[in-house]
Amino acid sequence: MSYCASRFHTVRRRTVEVMVGAVGVGAHHPLRVQSMTTSDTQDVDATVRQSIALAEVGCEIVRITAPNVPAAKCLREIREKFTAAGFGHIPLVADIHFLPSAAMEAVEHVEKVRVNPGNYADKKKFAVKEYTDADYEQELQRLHEAFSPLVKRAKELGRALRIGTNHGSLSDRIMNRYGDTPLGMVESALEFLRIARSHDYHALILSMKASNPKVMIQAYRLLVERMTREDMHYPLHLGVTEAGDGEDGRIKSAIGIGSLLLDGLGDTIRVSLTEDSVYEIPVAQAIASKAMSRWDEGRARPPGAPRPADGPAVRPYQDALDPYHFTRRETTTLQFSDHCVVGPEQPPRVIVRAGSVAALAETAAQLAAPKLKDTPVEGLLVSIGSAGDLATLCEVAARTALPVNFLALELAPGLSPEVLQPLLGLSQGRLLLVRKFAATETETLTAFVSLVRRHGQFLSVEIAPEDFAGYVPALRELGDAQLIFTLSSEPGASVAGHATGAYRRLVESLRAAGSRAPVWIRNTATTAVQGDNSFLSKLLEASFLTGALLCDGVGDLVSIETEADAARATKLTYNVLQGAGARISKTEFVACPSCGRTLFDLQTTTQRIRAQTGHLKGVKIAIMGCIVNGPGEMADADFGYVGGAPGKINLYVGKQCVQYNLPQAEADARLIALIREHGKWVDPEPHHAATA
Ligand code: SF4
Repeated sequence: MSYCASRFHTVRRRTVEVMVGAVGVGAHHPLRVQSMTTSDTQDVDATVRQSIALAEVGCEIVRITAPNVPAAKCLREIREKFTAAGFGHIPLVADIHFLPSAAMEAVEHVEKVRVNPGNYADKKKFAVKEYTDADYEQELQRLHEAFSPLVKRAKELGRALRIGTNHGSLSDRIMNRYGDTPLGMVESALEFLRIARSHDYHALILSMKASNPKVMIQAYRLLVERMTREDMHYPLHLGVTEAGDGEDGRIKSAIGIGSLLLDGLGDTIRVSLTEDSVYEIPVAQAIASKAMSRWDEGRARPPGAPRPADGPAVRPYQDALDPYHFTRRETTTLQFSDHCVVGPEQPPRVIVRAGSVAALAETAAQLAAPKLKDTPVEGLLVSIGSAGDLATLCEVAARTALPVNFLALELAPGLSPEVLQPLLGLSQGRLLLVRKFAATETETLTAFVSLVRRHGQFLSVEIAPEDFAGYVPALRELGDAQLIFTLSSEPGASVAGHATGAYRRLVESLRAAGSRAPVWIRNTATTAVQGDNSFLSKLLEASFLTGALLCDGVGDLVSIETEADAARATKLTYNVLQGAGARISKTEFVACPSCGRTLFDLQTTTQRIRAQTGHLKGVKIAIMGCIVNGPGEMADADFGYVGGAPGKINLYVGKQCVQYNLPQAEADARLIALIREHGKWVDPEPHHAATA
């Protein structure tokens, strides 16, 4: 059974409606945007102020941590004051870890309670133990007794519950049986789900968050597949935890959330950023708006036409990809130069668009800047509309040292292979011809393939997926050598189709044709779900398309052509590659967004640590405000900087705490010393020091 109705069109998953106070989630309701306060919950006025600030910028559901019973008691006054300020329609959610007593208090005052099944009345000591079936059953019975009172009280009061699993905080029971895996996350939630259903309670929303978008995407898919199998249709809350701040935090969130939304999953979202929470809302709204534009497109059908979910309007494409496990697509290897090989063992290669042939020298100079040393551009894309452009290109190329491994020439359809002949002979192995082929151009394709092969060059082929079948015999004959496939525009006509789906169809078509040619992901104005000219929109679109494909193991070259500034496009491309875990060019930071439990200033600390360690390519540093999600979430981080007590920091190497309760003033230096001791430190180069 699949996790979604279509991987090629957005068909919104059907869910039951869950009312969180006055706000409906799932079913026919729009995507709901939510966030969390960061103040000390017992500082009632500060928490009310933050809740109002969030509501005023469009937050539809506000979450507040309740780390203990006194904090949970404060929720009553917070609710009253928030309502008195005119926000009675905005529901509040209590965030609970560990303490059923805090949950039992909170449910009296707020519209929804979130529990973390990994630590709700459960052990989490990283103990290794073999659980016999009898032990396991006994644990479940204990859980049933611990969770049932909350379920019953929520039912009596008409409250909603979120079963919010975090990759970093699975119980010992789950870790020992299923490991720190998407399956473990899903099983953890299902245990709680079954208890709630045993009381005929259904106001449930689920989440499967992780800081790694790949893990998060797989976990949500698996959860939906398992729930559907058991005829459960509860709404989903989507989020990537500890995504960090700035461009990186937005990209990681958009990759995880966007990929699922395009597949029709998700009913409420939170973009977690290590920034003031009000900054999360515009990002979440932009993501929601893009996703819902696909729902609208699905609905904008002629009167009487079937709904997409009803079948005929959505063509029943299928692909062979296993959506629950990551495997990089196997491809042919292409050698552009000694330093630039494209293929399954290589990181995705980066292509940047030059404004025009005339602007080639200027773009080359921009890309040669020292600050881009760690983010090399492998290919420069330029449009060639006429023989005149070709002449200019030859001239510029003769007098300019291009800091790239190849030039990608996007050819106008009218240019014949003969016109290109002189150019192709000029520079062996450094040209990639890029051309669209219409449904009837199989002969032209054959002529181009033979031309590039004669001259040892490469051809990037664009064939609309709906025309692909007509090309299969020719492609079988031509084989893969020197070919790359791409799409620069979303093929039209399909209901609620999207470019991610079009690429999936392209990959499926290549598989059917027996081709292992590499795929180039092109982000252009026409691949956008709902593009506009803002940088945020370009960033989100690139994360949706490129991120979703890379997380499924598809993509050997990437270009973000919507950003005209070459340096900015380069940085954005590398950040998306890093967010998807496909190509690492700098230190990876896993930073929590902070909340009422936070034991130090997350924002300034994250910025300070980044300034000192941001050049450590391939090192992953977790910065956590407290230990709730700490050690587990740092499972694949190299080093951790975690609040241990007010003003005190614990340092971790992997999941192991190696230094306790350091005064914060000493912690940065000790972290760097630890990185040195483990052989992962290098001194920054001068351009880093200048830009830090
Ligand atoms: S890890 Fe951060 S966001 Fe999570 S509970 Fe602790 S302080 Fe709050």
